[in-house]
Amino acid sequence: MDNNATTRVAPEVTEAMEPFFRELWGNPSSMHYFGGQVARHVEDARAKVAELIGADPSEIIFTSCGTESNNTAIAGAAEIYGRQARIVTSRVEHQAVLGPCRKLGQTGFDVVELGVDSAGQPDLGELRKALQHAPCFVTTMWANNETGVIFPIEEIAGIVKSAGGVLHVDAVQAAGKLPVRVDEVPVDMLSLSGHKIHAPKGIGVLYVRRGTKFRPFMLGGHQEHGRRAGTENVPYIVGLGRACEMAREHLREGPGKLAALRDRLEKGLIAACPSGVLVNGDKGRRLPNTTNMSFRYIEGEAILYHLSDLGIAASSGSACTSGSLEVSHVLRAMGVPAEFAQGSIRFSLSRYTTGEDVDYVIAMMPAIVRRLRALSPFSPPEEQQI
Ligand code: PLP
Repeated sequence: MDNNATTRVAPEVTEAMEPFFRELWGNPSSMHYFGGQVARHVEDARAKVAELIGADPSEIIFTSCGTESNNTAIAGAAEIYGRQARIVTSRVEHQAVLGPCRKLGQTGFDVVELGVDSAGQPDLGELRKALQHAPCFVTTMWANNETGVIFPIEEIAGIVKSAGGVLHVDAVQAAGKLPVRVDEVPVDMLSLSGHKIHAPKGIGVLYVRRGTKFRPFMLGGHQEHGRRAGTENVPYIVGLGRACEMAREHLREGPGKLAALRDRLEKGLIAACPSGVLVNGDKGRRLPNTTNMSFRYIEGEAILYHLSDLGIAASSGSACTSGSLEVSHVLRAMGVPAEFAQGSIRFSLSRYTTGEDVDYVIAMMPAIVRRLRALSPFSPPEEQQI
């Protein structure tokens, strides 16, 4: 139930990777046959990644993770456009975008963070206003990791491009769950991460549209045509290629099955805990696998511990912020009242989630909520009766 944090490596992916830990361990940069045969597999994987997003293989750069892809795009824009540029992002981005943007803000860059409405959708009026400044680099997400809310990327891209801006999109959560197509949406750069789509942790992608100005983040050797130095992580690249191939097959089936399971979970929990429960985010434009629910007057962290004891993995806010007791920056930006925001839980499903998994969570949650509300000094008696 925590697949936005990471996903199971698909058995087919492990199988595809195996030979590259055993016999095919050459360096793809080597001139000899031993390296060359490995290089061919790297190029084959590059073509599969490109196919998933409608790119040309030459536009795909392999990185170590989504975080590196985001940092590369943002640091590169800062270097290319300098302090006269404006950097535009949103308040609900992942830390892998907010971190580098805020660091640039501290060093004198003009950084604008767009607000979102109560459904988690960005303020496009603010975007248009921010774009009155040139040059302008916009970095924003396709889908939110905490709420699953899908941004209107087509519209955002249209606005940014007609204002002459450059657009980077963090599609780490969207890829594999939605059609993410750079041949249909004019983004300049786009980040992906392997471990969100059933490939291993430690492999990512930065798509860079041909003709886009680019500066490498990692310097050293000439790998990736001088755009990302460092010997390629061949087994993981091959695994990612296989995962992208599988993602394409699953996308063809459509989101129906996953969305139905997610809706069964959400409805089941609301029926079981009828009062003091909220679903956070735009229910009409959400990833099919995600629901973010708030249980009033209790701590999300406490719910997590109880769920974990029962063998259920979920997340409060997001996996990356759950070490701290702070309310999620995403829910805060949406204006979710504190008594709800503190009790938020994200359930995120995958193609491996079953109806039994969902029903088990529905069966276990009411007792947890009841127990925690009984301990809460704020919880009204009627909410303790569930
Ligand atoms: N962007 C988003 C929206 C994410 O959800 C995540 C990970 O949770 C990242 C970026 C970072 O990706 P990675 O874990 O591959 O560094």
